[in-house]
Amino acid sequence: MLRAAAWAQRSLSHSSSGFSARMQSSGAAQSGVLAKRVAVLTGSTDGIGFAIARRLAKDGAHVVISSRKQQNVDRAVAMLQEEGLSVAGTVCHVGKAEDRQRLVAKALEHSGGVDFLVCNAGVNPLVGSTLGASEQVWDKILNVNVKAPALLLSQLLPHMEKRGDAAVILVSSISAYFPLVELGAYNVSKTALLGLTRTLALELAPKNIRVNCLVPGVIKTDFSKVVRTGCPQPDMQIFFLSRIGQPEDCAGLVSFLCSADASYITGENIVVAGCSSRL
Ligand code: NAP
Repeated sequence: MLRAAAWAQRSLSHSSSGFSARMQSSGAAQSGVLAKRVAVLTGSTDGIGFAIARRLAKDGAHVVISSRKQQNVDRAVAMLQEEGLSVAGTVCHVGKAEDRQRLVAKALEHSGGVDFLVCNAGVNPLVGSTLGASEQVWDKILNVNVKAPALLLSQLLPHMEKRGDAAVILVSSISAYFPLVELGAYNVSKTALLGLTRTLALELAPKNIRVNCLVPGVIKTDFSKVVRTGCPQPDMQIFFLSRIGQPEDCAGLVSFLCSADASYITGENIVVAGCSSRL
């Protein structure tokens, strides 16, 4: 963890020192720790996903952004291209097979392969208890949050394994460790992602594909409004750092986990919550 923090700090100062001038003068030139790599991100037109997309692109990757709404994809791609970053985008509702196929096709347009997959899209259609969730609510939460990352990865796998040293990042939640009663079925889906991380890490190790999991705490986005305004507020004393996180707080870790510096790290869940879930 200390190594990750030091790396993120070093890499951030590298990205900010003269980076934008270099990128703007050379259009979508790729330099940096992730240069010549291709990253695919789901749910990446806003919030945590967008911050990760920007960071991976600033660190040199060609980034393929996606989400459900065309206007959000267009806006996010335009914003990052204006910063001189190498990005493309397409609509992809992760729960729809044809959308996942379109995302794979878009990703292959750049150089015929994919190095990194960040599965960030997640939903929570119900604020309520686990036993109050209908079958439809369960299906939606499990389809989008748990099944879709595995299905998308299986579609991308042939294009990742031929690259060597590929990485997958799943996005869980601190609610997997500290469930909120109001987020019943969602908590369960995010706990399942911890299991999916370990299972996939084992399964894909022979192919040299690492699988790790980002575990955000309360991060200031539209998604977390319901927790920040509609649920009993956590006692901030339990957080070591007494503040809400920002989407950018999650981005450096994902870049590190994609990079060669993390080449011996797989099957890990790393909490970015201003506190520790470990003993
Ligand atoms: P956000 O700001 O609301 O952004 C969500 C993004 O996902 C948007 O780009 C949205 O765009 C897209 N999206 C939503 N449903 C989608 C679907 N079915 N398929 C594809 N894209 C979809 O959310 P966030 O707070 O950054 O959350 C991102 C991830 O972090 C989620 O997995 C969430 O569970 C996790 N997380 C968040 C927090 C937090 O405090 N914010 C804490 C722990 C974990 P469109 O509307 O265009 O689809």
